[in-house]
Amino acid sequence: MKAITICLLAAAVLFVGATVAHAVIFGPGGGGSGGSGTSTSMRDLYMKTQSDATKVKGENDTAPAGPVYSKTAHDITPLSKERIEELAKKLTPEERRVILASGTEPAFCGNLVDNKKQGTYICRLCSLPLFESKGKFDSGTGWPSFFAPVDQAHVVGLRDASHGMVRVEILCARCKGHLGHVFDDAPKTPTGLRFCVNSASLEFVEDGQKMPEAAMPVATETAYFAAGCFWGVEDRLQRFPGVIDAVSGYMGGKTKEPTYEQICRGDTDHAETVKVVFDPKRTNYDQLLGFFFRLHDPTQLNRQGPDVGTQYRSHIFTVGEAQKAAAEKFISEQQSNPRFKGKKVATRVSPAGGDVKFYAAEEYHQDYHVKNGGHCAMPEP
Ligand SMILES: [Zn+2]
Repeated sequence: MKAITICLLAAAVLFVGATVAHAVIFGPGGGGSGGSGTSTSMRDLYMKTQSDATKVKGENDTAPAGPVYSKTAHDITPLSKERIEELAKKLTPEERRVILASGTEPAFCGNLVDNKKQGTYICRLCSLPLFESKGKFDSGTGWPSFFAPVDQAHVVGLRDASHGMVRVEILCARCKGHLGHVFDDAPKTPTGLRFCVNSASLEFVEDGQKMPEAAMPVATETAYFAAGCFWGVEDRLQRFPGVIDAVSGYMGGKTKEPTYEQICRGDTDHAETVKVVFDPKRTNYDQLLGFFFRLHDPTQLNRQGPDVGTQYRSHIFTVGEAQKAAAEKFISEQQSNPRFKGKKVATRVSPAGGDVKFYAAEEYHQDYHVKNGGHCAMPEP
């Protein structure tokens, strides 16, 4: 009964004057008295947006060169205007007002405020998973509240200076649908953050229910390429359109759980190898093979330029019969490529699996050029 009364009251305020009501409704979170001592990277990620004048809605929207993926392997490539309009046809007028026009539903009115069931909250418009029940908490504000998104890349923050205050608006990363705002006034939560979301922006999928297709991570395939020092190889492969993740590591030797120091001695028989997880709908193994050959000189035996040793050899570790057949066919075709005239392609092909395991390299080797700058003389994707 209390919720209904407040709901009606809020609706009346909205009716009197929508612009004023918007500010009033967000009043409790606007100041943000808590949050001290909860300095997390996620907090920095979202709250620095508040002071970053360059990140204003509608500006700074540059289209990415290729598909974009999150750590959970969801395709979060921004949708086109046409696709958003098509998806929006299913929305109710109230959902349109909230999602497409940055509207706010009255407090305690949304159907998900008190939802305690276990499951996933997906974007009402494009179905991208945004929050989970394990990240939900009762903030008492009247809107569904979460302390963390499913994946930081799924929820973007934008500076919002409307209604006489500076706040951080949150949007779905894929369709840019309005979700609500994020505040750093939840000191008792693991992140200190309160993602204050409109029920109208969300759809709840209870555990055990079937997720819509658009909510699923992409079906991935994995490939392994050794082409000399993995720093540059990983860097380029990570940026190849359709690649979700590239990881530096060691493969093809006998030593279990090898370290970089052991690899450098050159007696483990491991090759510096990059594991590539890719989206077969956006690229394919043949395209990756072609790029792998552009990245290095496959005619050099057990070396790449100044890097000498079996750890720098050219080697493809194949997953399944189809990759093995494709890699062997590719190498035999490349042997007649004018680029390798008079030279023998030295690239080895071995099946991955069994004892041929991929061991991820130490953390300081991952994203080496992103972290440390510098670059290798290699072609861009
Ligand atoms: Zn969305």
